[in-house]
Amino acid sequence: VFNLPLERSFHYLVPAALQAAARPGVRVRAPFGARELTGMVVRLVESSPICRLKAIRRVIDPEPVIAEERWGLARWLAGYYYCSLGEALAAMVPSELRLPGSEAAGPASTPGEAHSGARVAGPRLTDAQAQALEAMIEALDSSRAQTLLLHGVTGSGKTELYLRAIAHALARGRGAICLVPEIALTAQTTDRFRERFGARVAVWHSAMGSRARAAAWRAISSGAAPVVVGARSAVFAPVRRLGLIVLDEEQETSYKQDKTPRYHAREVALERARLAAATVVLGSATPSVESFFHARRGLMRLLTLPQRVEARALPAAELIDLRQEWRAGRRPAPLSQRLEGALERALAQGEQAMLLLNRRGFARVGQCQACGAVVRCDRCSMPLIYHAQGGPPARPAQAGELRCHYCGRTAPPPDVCRQCRKGYVRFRGAGTERIESELHRLFPQASIGRMDADTMRGRGQHRRLYEAVRQRQIGLLVGTQMIAKGLDFPQVTLVGIVSADTALSLPDFRAGERTFDLLTQMAGRAGRGEQPGRVLIQTHCPSHYAIRAAARHDYAAFYEEEIRMRRRLGLPPWTHLIELTIRTSRRERAHEAAASLAQALRRHARGRRVTLLGPAPHRVERLRRRYQVCVVLKGRSVPVMIELLRRALELGRRFRGLPVTVDVDPL
Ligand code: ADP
Ligand code: ZN
Repeated sequence: VFNLPLERSFHYLVPAALQAAARPGVRVRAPFGARELTGMVVRLVESSPICRLKAIRRVIDPEPVIAEERWGLARWLAGYYYCSLGEALAAMVPSELRLPGSEAAGPASTPGEAHSGARVAGPRLTDAQAQALEAMIEALDSSRAQTLLLHGVTGSGKTELYLRAIAHALARGRGAICLVPEIALTAQTTDRFRERFGARVAVWHSAMGSRARAAAWRAISSGAAPVVVGARSAVFAPVRRLGLIVLDEEQETSYKQDKTPRYHAREVALERARLAAATVVLGSATPSVESFFHARRGLMRLLTLPQRVEARALPAAELIDLRQEWRAGRRPAPLSQRLEGALERALAQGEQAMLLLNRRGFARVGQCQACGAVVRCDRCSMPLIYHAQGGPPARPAQAGELRCHYCGRTAPPPDVCRQCRKGYVRFRGAGTERIESELHRLFPQASIGRMDADTMRGRGQHRRLYEAVRQRQIGLLVGTQMIAKGLDFPQVTLVGIVSADTALSLPDFRAGERTFDLLTQMAGRAGRGEQPGRVLIQTHCPSHYAIRAAARHDYAAFYEEEIRMRRRLGLPPWTHLIELTIRTSRRERAHEAAASLAQALRRHARGRRVTLLGPAPHRVERLRRRYQVCVVLKGRSVPVMIELLRRALELGRRFRGLPVTVDVDPL
């Protein structure tokens, strides 16, 4: 099978010289039409109905890269996410993986056999931790697949429990995978695993060099490294005798793959665990509405850690109503007087503070003051973001550059409006860069750091900044959601949220969930040490249920409101969605094709309890010069909806000759 949208396998001859090497589960190079492609051997057969067979040219892997339950996983992936087996397999094995010849392979060992036991003993568990661990051990010792949802506030000791559960799996001779949302940003987590399990830990993520990747693959598949810590794709790691999969912060959107097959690592983990009779632990301070729903319905066992370790208090949160600030006639600054005052006091007392604004750049929208035109990307329908790069120039419109956050295109800021050729273009709407410069202005003595995708480009940047904050060389840290997750700085007493509303205005039914998650996570950064913490949240919507619940650390209140809304609107988790997108450079063609696709699907959907929504333009109506139009299927059963797709779409997942992107359970 090949990494192509073709749901079939192809027969090839295996030349005598390759017969020992060409086994199921190895990748080979083979002629395909006029090209040569990489494919995977699925099965060896004695005969073929095809008379003039071509031969495979070369075997890539010295040993199978797909084995055991991962065959079944590939089939499931193809069925659930509607891709070909070849595409599913390609998602499971990194294309750049090059294993050295088998002579170099070390002896295989079983998990837990080699090396010493735990190097560092963990702390004494709290009662709640001990209870949760007992449930995990029970699940691990049963020979059934089971799922546990560990709901623990930030700093309640979830990671400690992952380590204990993994140690238990190892002691039983089984391997474990721990998924974290963004491995490059979680050096801290990796350190803790290494401390505990030494060389038995392999790290796995997409930014690895090919040598490191080959070494990690070898260590994992030989059993030398039975513990894998990694990002999304580590869910496919070739761990032998898999006993446990942990997903930390299971609600994170980075667990969803953004190209075909658009899998969610959580769903893959559940299926892999089912096939391997393994345990899944989903951990979170703010579980996804889906997972909590499943726990409520008894499909997962719910474990709760209601308190922080050592009874540290969760920080008190206060809402700052920006509408009142405005009414009181205060300057339209991104920081209210109350937040500014709190920052000043924290700095004066030698404490640290963190400020969140989930928007990059200096200014978010440029608008002509004469005609009102907004400066947009040439190729996309989205506004360009102004980046000042290293401090605010005296005349912002003359320096820095404009960047499209969707396609990456850059442009110089305009002198005059490009539409009317008269007006002055004013940029407004603060991003992290602007906040940083504002802080420099307000607190010239303070040392200020910024953590966002712009400052974290280079290798090791994240680690350097992290260490600088830890060692208190940086007093004020401003950043995007990157600073909201996982960082443990005990000296941070104040957290400021510059705008709680950034996600609320998006046309997305998960806006409330995203907001609750981000605010709760960010609030959790304060008061992790001995000093109590304080959280100030600036908002224009202080009565929004997600914001109110987050300020009170009240997951249950948020969930109840959210699940009722989802039920009323028939949205997930009550239903499943499948989003189909057609993209093409001509607007009419995109819309026409989408309309007739919707019509075809409606015809097939009759009497099947599947609803069709759309066609409607995608939120990013135009991307890289192509118009994007969506049709959404809504129903109770994914397989039923996939069956409709099979009938409506043409060979190669096309419709009227245009490729169709299929996103099952879109986020
Ligand atoms: P979470 O993953 O829920 O944020 P962690 O496991 O990272 O929590 O725990 C927060 C901090 O508390 C860590 O520094 C951890 O080493 C420590 N810790 C965890 N469990 C205990 C315990 N039972 N007693 C003392 N400290 C603990
Ligand atoms: Zn663009």
